[in-house]
Amino acid sequence: MTESRYNRQELVKGVGVEGQRRLQEARVAVVGVGALGCAVSDQIVRGGVGYLRLIDPDIPEISNLQRQVLIDERDVERRTPKARAAAAKLAVANSEVEIEAHVDRLDEGNAASLLDGVDLVLDGTDNFEARYLINRTCRQMGTPWIFGGVLGSSGMSFPVLSNGPCLHCALGPEPPVGKTPTTAQMGVLCSIVATIASIEVVRALRLLCGHNVESELVVVDLWNETMRTVAVDRDPRCPVCSNGR
Ligand SMILES: [Zn+2]
Repeated sequence: MTESRYNRQELVKGVGVEGQRRLQEARVAVVGVGALGCAVSDQIVRGGVGYLRLIDPDIPEISNLQRQVLIDERDVERRTPKARAAAAKLAVANSEVEIEAHVDRLDEGNAASLLDGVDLVLDGTDNFEARYLINRTCRQMGTPWIFGGVLGSSGMSFPVLSNGPCLHCALGPEPPVGKTPTTAQMGVLCSIVATIASIEVVRALRLLCGHNVESELVVVDLWNETMRTVAVDRDPRCPVCSNGR
């Protein structure tokens, strides 16, 4: 008997043949094709999502190679945009997935169209300005999205469900631009990228296979080997998701 491509995933309790079928019909967008964006895209394409949209405006740099697993030295030399470089690697990893690359920076003017027509959005960005824009846009469109962030050896993830608390409820108001520490200042381990990407993708799989996901913030520190989960409630005064939205 010939094994199917997805046999090992279908055997996992919670996925099954029916979950796999749902996944193959699902449409996902990844905003930001840096460290987290590469890692989540690799997993979700090998896992057999139906359609993936990659959105990133940047050209890769040599310091990206340590953790951006779909970018290689040739992409840096040729200055191939990250979204296109990643799409090319993913296309040969799984030719069954429809992949679209957009070399664009998500902004107020294009967010609604760039995030249109997908079932789920995965966060591969590295800044809160973009994440709060995704948060507002997805809430307006009724699309779930999954936040992820990494810094040093630590990271966090939070699933923003279409009817649950949003990122603003979980983390408070958007921090001023330039006021949060960056990986350029604090560094980042490839290992925490893989960990947070995996948490994002498993939550995505659960949602896309038709299961529930709790509105919980997961915080991981790999260096100190700690992981904690914090339940998040909706803020009744939240400017993004209150007022019956
Ligand atoms: Zn909210």
